[in-house]
Amino acid sequence: AQRHDVVIVGGGTGGIATASSLKKRQPELDIAVVEPQQDHFYQPGWTLVGGGVFSAEQTRRSMASVMPGFVDWYQNRVESLDPEAHLVALDDGRSLEYRALVMAPGLELNWQAIEGLEQTLGDNGVTSNYRFDLAPYTWQLVQSLHRGRALFSQPPMPIKCAGAPQKAMYLACSEWEKRDALKDIEVQFCNAGNALFSVPAYVPALERYIERYGIDKQFQHNLVAVDGPAQKARFRVAGDDEIEIDFDMLHVVPPQRAPALVRESTLANDAGWLDLDPETLQHNRFDDVFGLGDASATANAKTAAAIRKQAPVVAENLVARLNDRALNAAYRGYGACPLTVERGRVVLAEFGYGGELQPSFPQWLNRGTAPTALAWHFKTTALPMVYWHMLLKGHEWLIRPDSRR
Ligand code: FAD
Repeated sequence: AQRHDVVIVGGGTGGIATASSLKKRQPELDIAVVEPQQDHFYQPGWTLVGGGVFSAEQTRRSMASVMPGFVDWYQNRVESLDPEAHLVALDDGRSLEYRALVMAPGLELNWQAIEGLEQTLGDNGVTSNYRFDLAPYTWQLVQSLHRGRALFSQPPMPIKCAGAPQKAMYLACSEWEKRDALKDIEVQFCNAGNALFSVPAYVPALERYIERYGIDKQFQHNLVAVDGPAQKARFRVAGDDEIEIDFDMLHVVPPQRAPALVRESTLANDAGWLDLDPETLQHNRFDDVFGLGDASATANAKTAAAIRKQAPVVAENLVARLNDRALNAAYRGYGACPLTVERGRVVLAEFGYGGELQPSFPQWLNRGTAPTALAWHFKTTALPMVYWHMLLKGHEWLIRPDSRR
């Protein structure tokens, strides 16, 4: 097996940010990243593609352009993990041995879980901002809809960016309002869960927009089947009953789960996610394994924003572990969700474990639960730059990893 100090699985947000943060702390580390894809995506931008603000191309860069020059990039899929032997098996038969492993493979979108969905996505008015190639279709549908019924679904938790199903809806409504078409479009939000947002502090602000746009919100409505040609969606509702709703436009967010690589490994907890210490992000059973991002079982919001705080903690603790020092850096569950409640305004939600409000930006920018134009400009202009030039490069702007208590 080829040997490296650190092997990182996944060259998405978490993998690249961690490689850069490690390099800042111990420049001579020999780091390998395993990532099969040719492209790297700024997924938070897909909401804005669906809202007609960005082009899809603005959210894509070649993987080669974001992969740090100092790493060995294996353009492979990891097939399996053997944490007891400190080995990672690649899809071409090679294996890599590590002194420390970082797991950042993201999560799996489970489109197949909804009967009839895959064959109609991108057609018959069925779309999703959760795919690069479909987000432009969302905007196309929003522009072409003049009357009828628009459905927006949200699957059971956990999902990445739990606000995104609603963001798609609010941006669509904002456009219809501007065009004075909202009175002829019946908008329904069908949420498998029981609340608009997991952090109660933000719910009243969202409720005001639900009312303003005249949205009919339904809880415990779990999308189970779609008949594209007939434009009918079937939901399982409370008590296991099923109901059918006709639509002219349907924005779907698919159920999400840990990737099979994690689910089927000894690194998973009972629910299939990476079993990490919520504070140190070290694996609960394997000392030389760390993890971050969407694949992890930690109770934060699955966001790129979370990775902004997680990557420095993983880097700090991993370097400590390689140098036989105690792990001192602590992650407090930070995540953020810039809620695009209308075109031109954002509620900048920043919170940690247990829903504790954790504003990281100055008060003139984060005005608590109030929607502001400044936060919209921040989301649409500054944040993509922060992502490409700071987060992925290990420039830990406004970040000092907290110490363990
Ligand atoms: P990813 O960035 O998804 O990367 C995982 C990588 O691992 C991929 O490149 C994949 O190819 C690779 N991989 C998978 N399996 C293997 C394997 N077996 N071997 C090797 N490599 C593998 N976040 C925010 O902060 N704010 C937002 O407003 C926001 N909005 C969003 C809106 C939408 C529509 C979506 C879809 C996401 C949004 N997010 C947002 C969430 C954010 O994009 C993710 O939380 C973040 O990208 C997760 O990073 P990650 O590294 O865990 O996974």
